[in-house]
Amino acid sequence: METTAPPTPAQLDVHNPATGELVASIPTTDPAGVEAMARAARAAQARWAARTWRERAKVVARFHDLVFERQDEILDTIQRENGKARRDALAELVTVAGTARYYLAHGRRHLHEKRARGGVPLLTRARTAWHPHGLIGMITPWNFPFILGVADALPALLAGNAVLTKPSEVTPMSTLLARELLIEAGLDGDLFQVLVGTGPDLGEPLLDAVDMIGFTGSTATGRIIATGAAQRLIPSSLELGGKNPMLVLPGANVDDAVHGLMTGGFANSGQTCICVERVYVHEEIWDEFVAAATRRVGELDVRWSTDFSADMGSLASVEHAGQVRAHVQDAIDKGATVLVGGADVPAAGAAFVTPTLLTDTNSTMLAHADETFGPVVRLERVRSAEHALELANDSELGLNGSVWAGGRREARAIARRLEVGTANVNSTLLIYNSYDVPMGGIRQSGLGRRHAASGIQKYCRQQSIVESFAKGGGYELLLRVTDSPKRARMLLRVVKLWRRIPGIR
Ligand code: NAD
Repeated sequence: METTAPPTPAQLDVHNPATGELVASIPTTDPAGVEAMARAARAAQARWAARTWRERAKVVARFHDLVFERQDEILDTIQRENGKARRDALAELVTVAGTARYYLAHGRRHLHEKRARGGVPLLTRARTAWHPHGLIGMITPWNFPFILGVADALPALLAGNAVLTKPSEVTPMSTLLARELLIEAGLDGDLFQVLVGTGPDLGEPLLDAVDMIGFTGSTATGRIIATGAAQRLIPSSLELGGKNPMLVLPGANVDDAVHGLMTGGFANSGQTCICVERVYVHEEIWDEFVAAATRRVGELDVRWSTDFSADMGSLASVEHAGQVRAHVQDAIDKGATVLVGGADVPAAGAAFVTPTLLTDTNSTMLAHADETFGPVVRLERVRSAEHALELANDSELGLNGSVWAGGRREARAIARRLEVGTANVNSTLLIYNSYDVPMGGIRQSGLGRRHAASGIQKYCRQQSIVESFAKGGGYELLLRVTDSPKRARMLLRVVKLWRRIPGIR
């Protein structure tokens, strides 16, 4: 008997993981229709790129203001599709506004045409220019549905591109709301279109349709995206997972460091790509740190709440919460000590995970090297800063790191030696709101950067333009003047001297 693949469901049900409530049933995008969406986007993009920066900025500035005007609706939408605490939803709103603010103020400067040195001094000139790629594809995860649904698209739009974005099938509502706000701000809807559905259904048609792909998600899916982009030879930017270390060394203020751990390990229910998953604590302060951290983690108020009273909400799905608890159970089965928390399903519901601190872990455990992506942190005692660095750098991932030590200069020196794309001193998550520096990972944590100049330039192709004033500089000049051995020797003498002449070398 012939078997056929099951048809893609025409509706996607979005549930609040914390309560089980059905939030919305929305139509999915037909994979066969992606090409037509891309055609409409390209037509709109040609008009959009022809507008001035100031005109494009006006739309993004209006979007920035709408984020504040519609704050309750945004917070409700994020919370209802993701289950997170209200404060974690608020952090999304602040970060989207911050990204808009940064690129409105500085984006244009990053795309300015720049003068550069010509190939032959005085006779030639060079410059670099930036042009939008055209149509940008984005594929995003569920952990920060509003930030990841729209923030990276803002510089892409400002640079003159159109965007086709596919949010996670678990949390499409925040991206759809962002689209509504962009349209209300004056954007042509064809410039920011949302594909609703699963990655395996929509990933390929999306990759086939775009000029550049920006992906945020797991390392495993990142590899699939990189392969697809390589086949088409289009640029890709991959923001992937982490197993981020925190180093707590002598001289650190233990109270502050514990506060850092509370944010780095447990904000957003531990579902932050840059969150702390392993802490290396110097033996001198181990007892003090462990006692304070255990107490504070045990006090976390974990439940569904639409006001600001709860510390932590649910995880983004019952399935993901189960995977996180499985990491904890595996560690317990293999001999880890639970300082606080555990693998039981909490009273709040199946999508919740009890905030957990583990110690006595070893490399046979899932939580040792694999990303857990939940409110679970393992602590390890170290003898010295060198010992901490050795353990911290022993990872296939390299996204974010955090250092707490006596003097800031000493902490900075240690931070430089962390093999990660981003390092924080006296903080754990500060990097994400530091828009003027690039953010991204090394090793299996990704390729490419968001924020700063790279966060807008990656949506553009770079063009170099060189000019000659005389009858051809460079090679042409060489052919013209070297018509005898004597003149060739003269030319070489000039070229040799060149390195020694300040101002033109
Ligand atoms: P995921 O890789 O499962 O999914 C991410 C997106 O990829 C979703 O939209 C999904 O539908 C899509 N997708 C899945 N399979 C696909 C395929 N075959 N082709 C095309 N698209 C496909 O990740 P997730 O579980 O949604 O998110 C959690 C992960 O994201 C964690 O690993 C986390 O560290 C990472 N993350 C990284 C950053 C960062 O900036 N580095 C930020 C947030 C999250």
